[in-house]
Amino acid sequence: MKKLPEKLLGYTKYKEIKHGVKQLVYESSNAEDFENRWAKFIEKYDLELNEWLYTLYEERRRWVPCYLKCHFWAGMSTTQRSEGMNAFFDGFMNSTTTLQQFVAQYDNALRSKAEKECEADFASTNTTLPSGSQSFIERQFQDEYTHAKFGEVQNELRCKMNCNIKSVEVHGCKAKYIVKEALIWKDQSADKFNEVIFDLMTKDIECTCRLFEFRGVLCRHNLIVLA
Ligand SMILES: [Zn+2]
Repeated sequence: MKKLPEKLLGYTKYKEIKHGVKQLVYESSNAEDFENRWAKFIEKYDLELNEWLYTLYEERRRWVPCYLKCHFWAGMSTTQRSEGMNAFFDGFMNSTTTLQQFVAQYDNALRSKAEKECEADFASTNTTLPSGSQSFIERQFQDEYTHAKFGEVQNELRCKMNCNIKSVEVHGCKAKYIVKEALIWKDQSADKFNEVIFDLMTKDIECTCRLFEFRGVLCRHNLIVLA
């Protein structure tokens, strides 16, 4: 295995690498784009034979958001990604971090995030937040989710009242709903439309807002269709 550069990176270099990883992970629009960007990144920093990065690449379908579009991904929304990613790295790195340390610290950062989630799980299993409605859907999330996540579910349930179903079309076993959401934008009313597809056979449901894929929470548009 080829060694990573040993000498300390300057602040500019560190910023450059951090920015590069962030872009790779969160800005790639599809698999091909990610693979091209990754190849260039690896070549630029001479990391072809780094085992750890190679493993990460091999596992890309399990952690890079662009591969996970159609699966559950309890991550951050598009607008929060950049801020979140900075916060994610900043506690672990400083201007004298070497590239080798960077790789190790990235691993630590992920581990610490997982540990925090375990703690949140533990705190949540020992207390219960009150349920705001008589909804069975809400009850299920109350049992399964941490307090923070359950709070997000409750917000979606509240916002459901601003939504209504404008149309339904059934093609085979798929029902397509157009859900109108009444919003207020700069003191003006502004309607937003989302498309929800409900599979009558498998009971799978998806919405164009992709809230579930990004945050693991059923959106208000799905909820109005299911209710
Ligand atoms: Zn939605």
